[in-house]
Amino acid sequence: MTTITRLATIAALTLCAALPAHAEQDPPITIDTHVDIPFTYMREARFDVGKPTPLLVDLGKMERGGLNAAFFVIWVPQHKLDAAGYAKAVEQAEQKYDAIGRMLMQYPDRIRLATTPEQLLANHKAGLLSATIEIENGYSLGHDIRRLDAAFDRGARSIGLAHVGNNDLCTSSLPDTEHGEPAMNSAGDTGMSDFGRAVVKRANQLGMLVDISHSSDACVREALKLSTAPIYASHSGARAALDHPRNLPDDLLRAIAAKGGVVDAVAYKEFLKKDPAREAAEKKLQAAIAKQSGHKEYDSDRDDYLPAMDKGMAEIQQKYPLATLDDYMNQIQHMVKVAGIDHVGIASDFDGGGGITGWANASETRNVTAALHKRGFSDTDIAKLWGGNLLRVWREVERDAQH
Ligand SMILES: [Zn+2]
Repeated sequence: MTTITRLATIAALTLCAALPAHAEQDPPITIDTHVDIPFTYMREARFDVGKPTPLLVDLGKMERGGLNAAFFVIWVPQHKLDAAGYAKAVEQAEQKYDAIGRMLMQYPDRIRLATTPEQLLANHKAGLLSATIEIENGYSLGHDIRRLDAAFDRGARSIGLAHVGNNDLCTSSLPDTEHGEPAMNSAGDTGMSDFGRAVVKRANQLGMLVDISHSSDACVREALKLSTAPIYASHSGARAALDHPRNLPDDLLRAIAAKGGVVDAVAYKEFLKKDPAREAAEKKLQAAIAKQSGHKEYDSDRDDYLPAMDKGMAEIQQKYPLATLDDYMNQIQHMVKVAGIDHVGIASDFDGGGGITGWANASETRNVTAALHKRGFSDTDIAKLWGGNLLRVWREVERDAQH
């Protein structure tokens, strides 16, 4: 045992002692299906996750907080839908696969890759954390279906069709209307493209989860019709609970459930609480930070964690407090009411904008379990929400595969 793990164990024991009695028992498995990573993850010393980092998820925080597994995200920003844009996206995705690989190679005694539900459970049984790889934005396939097979071979087990802005697979829940893309659910919203259909079909054959978070309603409907296996939302909420395009309407929550899928509720401030004043203040702060460092636009990879940013965010938090665990529980309860207890899960979107008061980073994961208990969920229900449902869907996706 290294000094760091010994310290982590001591910290975990201290934390357990301070928790109320019902929270002392962890669920059988806890899986967070959406965790982002910066491009310099495991390259810069400050993002070496085997040590304490400014990131909301690192190995110590997972171990202390009782977060057993995370879906680490291959996310790239969206450029133009042309050859140069695709090439750049492929290259950027490469950096992220490499970063996850570095983590796994450097800390095999703490975290292992899980490409099957059984592997994930075996890792947990062996006292190890699990990392599963998830693609966020099919744009990074560079419009080449063979890259989906290559991604599968590298361990990716989930393909998120879209992100912000319409791409070559399907329309987005947040189209780039400023640059002329039609609004979601307007007459011009075209839903899924032929390439998107090919990706869903191939993902089914490979046994990859089809992730509809960020996709437009029309795209979700088509994925429901097309997919031979249940579909999943890695990080989405309920629009009836909080009206935001990134949240799913009740009819789609029901339809995903009817097909046997799962929607993982996300602890993302703007999908849980409307606070335009806070949004505006954050944008203003980001613009000021970018200007200070002589850049045109804020770049989260470059500018997050700057002391001026931390200070500014603390001031904003004083004035416009973040969404809380209570807001998150309201949304989970609504989703369970509409979709059923077998079709809802949990995701943070940590290091991608996620995090709320009460679940501010992975070390506070037990607070979520305690809040679920407080809302009257049984141990059985909580086990389903924290990963049981996801594992069931994943197994079904694997069973339907024909590779
Ligand atoms: Zn996202």
